Formats: sequence, structure tokens, C-alpha cells
Amino acid sequence: MTFSVILTLLLLLKKMPIPKSLYEQVRQRAQYRCEYCHYPELLSTAPLSIDHLQPQSLGGTDNLDNLALACRRCNERRYNFTVGIDPDTGKETPLFNPRQQIWAEHFMWTFDGLCIIGKTPTGRATCERLDLNDERRGEKFIQKSRQRWVEIGLHPPEDDPQE
Ligand SMILES: [Zn+2]
Repeated sequence: MTFSVILTLLLLLKKMPIPKSLYEQVRQRAQYRCEYCHYPELLSTAPLSIDHLQPQSLGGTDNLDNLALACRRCNERRYNFTVGIDPDTGKETPLFNPRQQIWAEHFMWTFDGLCIIGKTPTGRATCERLDLNDERRGEKFIQKSRQRWVEIGLHPPEDDPQE
């Protein structure tokens, strides 16, 4: 096989979608919500997407240990970042890794359920990098949405810590 044929095959392999059974495992493990902002899939018009913790562009695989369920917002904002800046110290810090860390240890909800607060350097850096509360967006769209979900009793998730 020539180099170009091998390269083409590799590119084709890279574009292969995640097998459905693997995707279902990821969704179930995540309890059908985004593993970063805890957005529930049942409020979405489409199933949530797969996020590669170690990005594919940096050699990350499709192994279950490297996959997380993420909403489109978090997936796009995390892009291929694995670190962020803790706004309290200005230091570079690894982003939250749902395969190695527990959400409730790094984050909690404000008393009104509208915002996620980072409790640790990783929590704060992740809030900032993924803009989990739309602080950088003028409209703060996500906070308005969460307000509606609170009103109909779908938010915040019962087992999440809150102020
Ligand atoms: Zn999310």
C-alpha cells in the first residue's frame, strides 16, 4: 500500500461515526444530560452529542473512557481545549473531566438554579472556558432558559448541590 492510500484510509476511519451501541452507553452513563452544564436531553429537540475528552485531533480515541455526553454549546465551546484559566488565580488549570472527576465536587448551582458556580480551580476554569452561564453573551440566553425550566420543576437536577 502506498502512503497516500494509507492516509486516505486513515482519514476515512477518522470520519466513521461512533457505533450506536457505544453512543447509547455514553448517553445512559450520563443519565441523558450534558456532563458539563447538566442540560437534560429531554429538553432538547435532538439527542445530545459525543465529546472526546482527549480531542481526536490530539490523538483521542473512541474508547468509552475518552467519551462524554455534551450539549452542542458545551461541545463547541470546549472545542479541543483541555485546560483553562482559573479566574481567581490566573493560573492554567485542567478542565473538568467527567471520567475522572465528580461534578458535585467542582460545581454547584446558585440558590435560584440559574448559574453554575465553580467551587475549585477546575470548576472555575471550566465555567469560564465553556461560559456555562453565558456571562460573555449579552443576552445571557442560558440563564433565561434555566429560569423557565425552574418554573416547570425540571431544574436544577435533584442530586446537584445548590447554594
Ligand atoms: Zn452543556
